[in-house]
Amino acid sequence: MKPLVWLCLALLLPAAAWAQPAPIAYRVTFPEPQHHWMQVEMTVSGLGAAPLRARMSRSSPGRYAVHEFAKNIFQIDAVDGTGKKLAVSHADVDGWTIAGHDGTVSVTYRIFGDRADGTYLGIDTTHAHINMPAAFLWVEGLENRSMRVTFTPPAGSSWEVGTQLFPTPDPYTFTAPNLQYFMDSPTEVSAFMTSTFSVIGADGSASQFRLVVHADAAPSDVDELAKLVQRLVREARGVFGEFPKFEPGMYTFLLDYSAWGAGDGMEHRNSTFISEPGLSLRDANGRRAAIDTISHEFFHAWNVERIRPVGLEPFDFTRENVTCCLWLAEGFTQYYGELLQVRAGFSDNVPVGYGSELLNLSARHVRSVVQMSEQAPFADAATAIDRTDLSRTFISYYDFGAAVALALDLSIRQRTAGAASLDDFMALMWQRFGRTAENRAGYVGRPYALTDLRDALAEVVKDRAYANDFFDRFVEGREAADYAALLAPAGYVLHVGFPDRGWIGGVPLRETAGGVSVIGLVQFGTPIYDAGLDLGDVIVTIDDKPATLAGWNAIATRKPGETVAVTIRRRDGKTTGVTITVKPDPTVTIDDLAKTRTLTPEQRAFRESWLGAKGK
Ligand SMILES: [Zn+2]
Repeated sequence: MKPLVWLCLALLLPAAAWAQPAPIAYRVTFPEPQHHWMQVEMTVSGLGAAPLRARMSRSSPGRYAVHEFAKNIFQIDAVDGTGKKLAVSHADVDGWTIAGHDGTVSVTYRIFGDRADGTYLGIDTTHAHINMPAAFLWVEGLENRSMRVTFTPPAGSSWEVGTQLFPTPDPYTFTAPNLQYFMDSPTEVSAFMTSTFSVIGADGSASQFRLVVHADAAPSDVDELAKLVQRLVREARGVFGEFPKFEPGMYTFLLDYSAWGAGDGMEHRNSTFISEPGLSLRDANGRRAAIDTISHEFFHAWNVERIRPVGLEPFDFTRENVTCCLWLAEGFTQYYGELLQVRAGFSDNVPVGYGSELLNLSARHVRSVVQMSEQAPFADAATAIDRTDLSRTFISYYDFGAAVALALDLSIRQRTAGAASLDDFMALMWQRFGRTAENRAGYVGRPYALTDLRDALAEVVKDRAYANDFFDRFVEGREAADYAALLAPAGYVLHVGFPDRGWIGGVPLRETAGGVSVIGLVQFGTPIYDAGLDLGDVIVTIDDKPATLAGWNAIATRKPGETVAVTIRRRDGKTTGVTITVKPDPTVTIDDLAKTRTLTPEQRAFRESWLGAKGK
C-alpha cells in the first residue's frame, strides 16, 4: 500500500519539486605549483535571494585541535551568474558573506599550502596533496547538497587524481554526496603509481583495494608492497569477520613516500593518507616498515570511521570535536595495528610494553583515560605560546588506550577461559554500531556512547558486574589494571622496581654560571617533587659543593634511604635549603619468558590463540 500512495503523490507534484539542485561545483587549477598555491573556483546555484555564507573549516576529521585553515586564503573574488562582480565581505575570521547575487555565485580564491600530511595542503612541482578542509570553502546551510570537483593538472605534467571521491567518466572529475563525505576525501594529484588487488569474502563477494603511491620507486616495488598489504588486510578482517562496504567500490591507500612530505597517517572512511618521507620502497625493509602505519590506519576503516563515538558524528568543521573515547578509537587501533602485524607474521613485537609504560607514568593518577581523550584538542598538534603542564598531567590516549586494550584483551581471555577475546568485543561493536553506518556515505547511523561500551563488554563476558568494575576502575576511574596477573598466563613476567637502585626522578636541566637550572616541570610523585624542586629553580649547591650537572647525576648512584642536602634559588631570588631523600627505583619492566626458557604448553596455547594468524 505505501509505495502506491507515494507514487500518487509523485504524479501530483510539479516536476520542479523533484529536481535536485545542481551540485556545488569546484574547479581546481595549479597555475604556479612552484609557488605552493592553487586556485579554486566554487560555483553555487539555486541560492534564492539570501546572501551566500562561505566558510573555511577550522578543524579536520581525525585531528582534534583547531587549525584555522582560513589563514591561507588570499585573492578572494566573486561574480554572479551573469558575470557581475560581487562584494565579498569578510564577516568573521573564517567566514565570508556575498550578497546581491542572482541566485548563482562563483567564488574564486587562491590558497597556499606547503605541508603534505593528513591535515594540511601541500603543493609543489611534484604533486598537490589536498586535505579537503584545508583547501575548500563550503557553503553554510548547503551541507547536504552534492558536490563535484574537477582538477586541471599543470600543463605538461602527467598528474592523475587519487581519491576516495566517487569517479565519473572524466578521470579528472569526481563527486561526493554531501559535505561530510567530500571533506573526508583527501586527494593526491601527481604522477603516482598504482597497484590493485581484491579479497574474496565468505559470501563470495570481492572487496577491492588500490594502492596509490607517490614515491621514488619502481612499479614492481609497489606490487611487492601490495602483497604485504593484502596479508595485513586479511588479518584485520579476521577481527571483524568482514570488510566494510567501501562506497566508491574500493578502499584506497594514498601513500606518499616523497622527500618533502611531513610524516603522518590519517584515517578516512574509504581511504587513508600516509606520508613517510625518507621511507624507500626499493628494499624489503622499507616495504616492511611501511606496513606499520598502514596497519594502524586500515583498522580505522572499522574503528572510528564506522564504529564511531558520539562527539565526532557528524563532524563539526567550525570547532574542536571532543569525544569520550579516543582511547578506544585511537588506543585500541594502536594495539591492533601492532597485534595484526604479529598475526600476519611481519613482526614479533607483541604490544605488551604499553602495560609497563602506563605503570611508569605518574600522570595516570591525575586523569582517567576518558579524561585524557577529552584533552585531545589541547594535545593533538595544538599550538599556543603559553607553557602547559601536559608533560606531567597528560598521557597520550594512543598509548594509554593501547594499555587498556591489552588489559581488556587478556582479561576477557582469562575471564572466559579462552572462549572470548577483545576480537569478540570489537566484532560485537561492529555488528551493533559500525554496520549500521553503511546506509549513507559520509554519515554514521549509530554512533556509540561510553555506556554502550559497558553494555557490549557485559555481553561478551556475560557478566555485568565485571564489565562495570572494569569501566569504573580502569576506564572512567584512575586505577591501573593488574598487568602482572594478566600477563602471567601468556608467559610474560612483570618486574616492579629495583630495590637496590637509587632514584630521585628526572627533569630537564641546564648547567649555568650560577649552578644548574631546572628547565622543565618536575613529575608528580618523585623525590625531587617531594623535596619542593620545580621549573624556574636554580640548584646552587649539592651537599655544600657548587652544583654541576655531573654532581647532580651522581645523586642517582646513591643508595635508597640516603639523603642529599641541596640549596636552590627560587625565581624571587631567595635561597633555600631542601633535602632530597633517595628512594628505590620504581621502574616497571616486562620480561618475555620465551627468551630464557621453554614456555609451558598452557602459555604456548595462550599465545597461539592470541597471536596466531586469523586472516585465512
Ligand atoms: Zn589513528
